[in-house]
Amino acid sequence: MLDPFGRTISYLRVSVTDRCDFRCVYCMSEDMSFLPKAEILTLEELDRLCGAFITAGVRKIRITGGEPLVRRGVMALFESLGARLGQGLDELTVTTNASQLARHATALHAAGVRRVNVSLDTLDPARFTAITRWGRLEQTLDGIFAARAAGLAVKINAVALKGENEGEFDALLAWCGEHGFDLCLIETMPMGDIGGDRTTQYLPLSLVRADLRRRWTLRESAYRTGGPARYFDVLETGRRIGFITPMTHNFCESCNRVRLTCTGTLYMCLGQEDAADLRRVLRAGADEAALQAAIAEAIARKPKGHDFIIDRRASRPAVARHMSVTGG
Ligand code: SAM
Ligand code: SF4
Repeated sequence: MLDPFGRTISYLRVSVTDRCDFRCVYCMSEDMSFLPKAEILTLEELDRLCGAFITAGVRKIRITGGEPLVRRGVMALFESLGARLGQGLDELTVTTNASQLARHATALHAAGVRRVNVSLDTLDPARFTAITRWGRLEQTLDGIFAARAAGLAVKINAVALKGENEGEFDALLAWCGEHGFDLCLIETMPMGDIGGDRTTQYLPLSLVRADLRRRWTLRESAYRTGGPARYFDVLETGRRIGFITPMTHNFCESCNRVRLTCTGTLYMCLGQEDAADLRRVLRAGADEAALQAAIAEAIARKPKGHDFIIDRRASRPAVARHMSVTGG
């Protein structure tokens, strides 16, 4: 699958629910309203669409949300997609807050998942609850260690939040080194109304990296996961640290992905509103050829890049939908 700018599209991120058992301050408002069930694709519909994308050339699928592991019956989707590994699909992964990971880690591994991304912004129990509003650190840590015990490689994702976890990156880096996890720091993106002022949360990672370099030896690495992160080897720990900098560094040139929401809406760019309604095509009784045509038509509209800018005076987000809709 080639887009109009010659980029190969081989990576599909699938949000299987907009719901979550957390209310992270940068992601959701406390009183989020969620979609009615009729609008959400069934697990069979999600599997059919994923299959069509694999036929079209997708090699890697990441299941995300909302919190993917709170969707009832979601393991059936992991199993059906896992059966496609080696049959066109190279990798099946998941991004999770790990609250339910202790229950599902073994089954995820059995389904063919080998790597999981876990969001963990702090190791301080009180701050963890302050950031996630509804989460408990202990439960997330149990999930992380269950994943490791099940043989899953764990990458920790932390959103860098000014005045919140900015004093904790040394501790996170050391903890990840101790337990054998890579760490990825992410800049906050202006997506969705979160019921507060977002610009006060924004912390440029260029500053964080310069500060970390005073105490850690970071050597630029050629390692890539097919995503937008730039990696460095941390010589003191033997692990890696990645930086995802949508705001300070434009990562769009090498974009290889599209995003499917739980309602079957395909977003060709995280930072743009244009989308394709694949649920309508699917529920109109489309055969495989019609699905392929709808996917090809959407990919032909993939834009060159996002327009995120932090406007310090703007009170509205750059993109109205929440990250939990497109899954990050
Ligand atoms: N619930 C799962 C989780 O938290 O890992 C998966 C979905 S969550 C939307 C995916 C990722 O997006 C998480 O790592 C989260 O920290 C990140 N995220 C959410 N809102 C964000 C924002 N406004 N800016 C940057 N990252 C954000
Ligand atoms: Fe839920 Fe993930 Fe959003 Fe936090 S970042 S509220 S865990 S979807």
